[in-house]
Amino acid sequence: AKNRGRSFVQFYTPALEGRATRMLMQEQLLRQAVERGEFELHYQPQLHLDSGELAGFEALVRWKHPHRGLVHPDEFIGFAENRGLIAAIDHWALREACRQARAWQDAGYPAVPVAVNLSAQEFRQRDVVQEVSQALTHAGLDARLLHIELTESTLMQSGGQVPDALHALKALGVGLAIDDFGTGYSSLAYLRKHPIDRLKIDRSFICDLPHNPDAAAIVSAIVQMGHSLHLEIVAEGVETLAQRELLQNIGCDMMQGFLVSAPLPCEQAQHWMSQHCHP
Ligand code: C2E
Ligand code: CA
Ligand code: CA
Ligand code: CA
Repeated sequence: AKNRGRSFVQFYTPALEGRATRMLMQEQLLRQAVERGEFELHYQPQLHLDSGELAGFEALVRWKHPHRGLVHPDEFIGFAENRGLIAAIDHWALREACRQARAWQDAGYPAVPVAVNLSAQEFRQRDVVQEVSQALTHAGLDARLLHIELTESTLMQSGGQVPDALHALKALGVGLAIDDFGTGYSSLAYLRKHPIDRLKIDRSFICDLPHNPDAAAIVSAIVQMGHSLHLEIVAEGVETLAQRELLQNIGCDMMQGFLVSAPLPCEQAQHWMSQHCHP
C-alpha cells in the first residue's frame, strides 16, 4: 500500500501538472474560438472523372489559433470531441458553408454543391434536421447544393435517431455521403437501409494505387457494388495521374485530392473556379 501511495504521489509530477494546465488553456482557447467563430473554411474541389468538370467542393474547417496561426482539424477535432465542442464547430461550419455557396452562386460561379462534415455528436446532441433546414433558409440556399458527409461509425452509432435524421434530411433534398468508406464497419446491406447518395472511398485505399493489386481490387469492388446500389463514388486523396487513370478505368465517378488541388481559402477557391470553369 505504501508503495502504491508513493507511486501515486509520483504520478503528480510538475510535468503532468503543466500538461493539465496546458490542456485547460487549450480548452479555454477553443471555447473562446467557438463563441467568437474564430474558424475558417477551406474548400477542396471535387471533379467528375469522365469530363474533368467541377463537381463540387468539400468544406474543411481550420482554427484561427491566436498563437499558432491556422491549425488543421486533425490537431483539434479529437480534442473538441472529448470536450463536447465539436457540435458547435459543425454548426458554425454548416452555416458558413451554406452562406459561401450562396454567395458564389450570386457572384455567377458554377452552382455546385458544397459538402460539410458532421460528427456523431452533432447527430446525438442537436436537432440536425432543424439546424440544416435553418442554415439553408438563412442562407437562401437550395438544399440540393448542400451535401453532408458522415462516417460509417456515425451511421452505426446512436440507436434510432441517425436513420430518422437521414430520411428527414433526404426529404429536404440534401445529398448524403459516407466519408472514409471502407475503414469502418458498415456493410452494403446496412447501407441499403439508409438514403445515402454517395460513398467516398478512403484515402488509405487510394494511396496504394495503382500498383497494389489488393487495393485496386477493393476500390474496384466498392465502385461496382456502389453502382449497383445507385450510389455515386468519390475517390479521396488522389495525388497522381496514374491513380486518376486507374480510377477512370475502374469507372469511379469523382475524385478529390492534391492532384487537383489542396483545400483552398475562399478567395483562392474563387480564383481556381475562374481558371478552371468555363461556362
Ligand atoms: P476528411 O473529411 O477525410 O477530409 C479529407 C482530408 O484529407 C482533409 O484534411 C484534406 O486536406 C486531406 N486531403 C485531401 N486531399 C488529399 C491528398 O491528396 N493527400 C493527402 N495526404 N491528404 C489529402 P483536413 O482538412 O486536415 O481534415 C481532416 C479531417 O478533419 C477531415 O477528414 C474530417 O474528418 C475532419 N473535419 C474537417 N472539417 C470538419 C468539420 O467542419 N467538422 C467535423 N466534424 N470534422 C471536420
Ligand atoms: Ca469528409
Ligand atoms: Ca474522408
Ligand atoms: Ca478522414
